[in-house]
Amino acid sequence: MALIDIGVNLAHESFDRDRPEVIARAHAAGVVQMIVTGSSRESTQRAVALAGSHPGRLFATSGVHPHHAAELDAECLAELERLAGHPAVVAVGECGLDYYRDFSPRDVQRRAFARQLELAARIGKPVFLHQRDAHADFIAIVREHRDALAGGVAHCFTGSAAELEQTLSLDLAIGITGWICDERRGAHLAPLVRDIPAARLTIETDAPYLLPRDLAPKPASRRNEPAFLAHVARAVARARGVELGALAETTTAAARALFRLPPPRAEDAHAPEPPATGSAAEADFTR
Ligand SMILES: [Zn+2]
Repeated sequence: MALIDIGVNLAHESFDRDRPEVIARAHAAGVVQMIVTGSSRESTQRAVALAGSHPGRLFATSGVHPHHAAELDAECLAELERLAGHPAVVAVGECGLDYYRDFSPRDVQRRAFARQLELAARIGKPVFLHQRDAHADFIAIVREHRDALAGGVAHCFTGSAAELEQTLSLDLAIGITGWICDERRGAHLAPLVRDIPAARLTIETDAPYLLPRDLAPKPASRRNEPAFLAHVARAVARARGVELGALAETTTAAARALFRLPPPRAEDAHAPEPPATGSAAEADFTR
């Protein structure tokens, strides 16, 4: 089985103590390639460095999450554009709107989002999109830029049937996380994922966030990691009524097509790493 985690925050500080082990465990669990999410200027710099040191296996996105929208001044945008030119960067983002947390004022979020969509169009790379509690504005802004974009994915889709239909109507791919494993707030997703065309369905962990609620046993740290992508894949396969192998094949093909990833080469395989020296730092990984 060969899976691709299209969204893993591997630059997150909770992985600082055991990142090589986390990558090795993911590969051992069938995750052959991962896209490391850049969510701020600094995390993009780290994501690109990480991807650059694991050619063919790790890739990165370059962008500013709506939480950090206020940091996107002209200089930051220029730096994102410079980083986005790195061959390991396969998308612009994550960018979008988050009216659930509202960590940046909404007009600032909308402006930062539009600037990054323009950047993606300029350099011809797809977009990695975040949206929470902002569906209508999100759709309106993407629609304005859609013709100029080289594709995109609505990452961590958690919305309704109508929202899915509108997102698909913009010819976007959909990213499904372990949210689907949450019996309290993700149960509505199981019937919905059947309506996503296989060529546009991708899977992701969003680690270290969104540890699947039904994972057993759960790590004591409650930190999610890319090795648990197979668990997400199983839940999505079950919901779609397909075999896990078939789901792995179509989601991997969909991710490779959208992000133009090369097939992994054996010589890029992960080298064995020394054992971890610590456990994940205590932190809150809820979203
Ligand atoms: Zn996100």
